[in-house]
Amino acid sequence: MLNPTLRFYSIFIMFHSMVSRSTAFQRILPYQPPLWAQEYLKTVPPHGRWLLANLPTPLYQLISHNHDASILSQTFDAIQASLFIKRDDSTGGVELGGNKIRKLEFLLADAVEQNCDCVVTIGGIQSNHCRATASASRMLGLEPHLILRTRNVEEVGWEGNLLINRMMKSVIYTCTPGEYGKMGSDELVRRLCQHLVSQGRKPYSIPVGGSNGIGSWGYINAVDELMQQWETIFHNRSLDHVVFACGSGGTATGIAIGMALYHLHHQSSKFPKVHAIGVCDDPEYFIKYVTNISDQMGLTLPSDTSTEDFVRKHLHVVQGKGLGYAMSSTEELSFLRQFAIETGIVLDPVYSGKALYNFCQMIRQDPESYHGSNILFWHTGGALGLYDKVGELEGDQTGAVVNRLDIYGKGNGINLNR
Ligand SMILES: *Cc1c(COP(=O)(O)O)cnc(C)c1O
Repeated sequence: MLNPTLRFYSIFIMFHSMVSRSTAFQRILPYQPPLWAQEYLKTVPPHGRWLLANLPTPLYQLISHNHDASILSQTFDAIQASLFIKRDDSTGGVELGGNKIRKLEFLLADAVEQNCDCVVTIGGIQSNHCRATASASRMLGLEPHLILRTRNVEEVGWEGNLLINRMMKSVIYTCTPGEYGKMGSDELVRRLCQHLVSQGRKPYSIPVGGSNGIGSWGYINAVDELMQQWETIFHNRSLDHVVFACGSGGTATGIAIGMALYHLHHQSSKFPKVHAIGVCDDPEYFIKYVTNISDQMGLTLPSDTSTEDFVRKHLHVVQGKGLGYAMSSTEELSFLRQFAIETGIVLDPVYSGKALYNFCQMIRQDPESYHGSNILFWHTGGALGLYDKVGELEGDQTGAVVNRLDIYGKGNGINLNR
């Protein structure tokens, strides 16, 4: 039994931590960029940040438990490379999980401070970004309006991210890939906002993937989080390669610029190589896009280095689209399954799975470049996208073993009575 004074204190501490957690959640915090970013990034998000994500996300090394493990042993152990994983699939539950919530913490703070009453954004039919925006908007009392690109404009489904969008009572608008390509996503968002304004609403617009000069701060902050973890857990080990999926460019901007500025500030002799695996557009497109976002963030470099040269120097973009955006090859799906068996971790078919699949191909084609190195794979989430692939995954015979139990000893399965 605790004595009365101690008991009072433990109740007080419990109460105090509950209160401080909930007030943090319900308040916009002013945002103070890390010291290393303040030096070079001059346009800080004006309205701070809502704490919505579960941070820091876990960081750990993946260890092979099986000599036949084709990914971990034969790709990484074989060249004495170590694979680490940063679990940004764990930033939230089914509602917020994935990389987008890091950007939405800044974007939605801006929306609330501007007294908006609804949020407009856009993406593919199974967009993780639209799902996270719908959920986070509801958390802050804003109504989500989503423009979704789909071949089947008349019949929006219920699976994966769509189920969450529907549960959040999002207002959904559909358009075809042709219409989307012709008008452009920014113009579509602008016109829908105009339409809502004419109805007396006050919309806040968010571009594809939340990738602009405000949202991308989420990954500047994430680099700070990662490097603090890395120094604490693995202090003397070098971080040689960082790899992740790239769709709209905001994550790549934050990680590439963040890594470069962090190491510049700390006067490191060696910079980690940052590899963004593009899953929709060409590498050259992403370089231009990342350059544009970096300028929006007020990137100010010493002497006369141009933003584009700086981006080219610190970001390696690789074509990893395969059969096309959100389309999976048999090899990619087998890779997802194999990775799940070896690690217990689910990758998604549209982004993280393609990123690690292509990176493993790169290692196998040029093992010398990765020999003995420490490689970080940044898992960006997206598991709900798997529901779209059930039809392609279920045909495979190497999946789980299913047995009938013979409870009554009738000889129709595995008999547990003996
Ligand atoms: C959106 C997304 C990405 C790509 O991030 P961008 O910042 O849009 O480039 C990667 N993985 C998942 C699971 C995503 O949903």
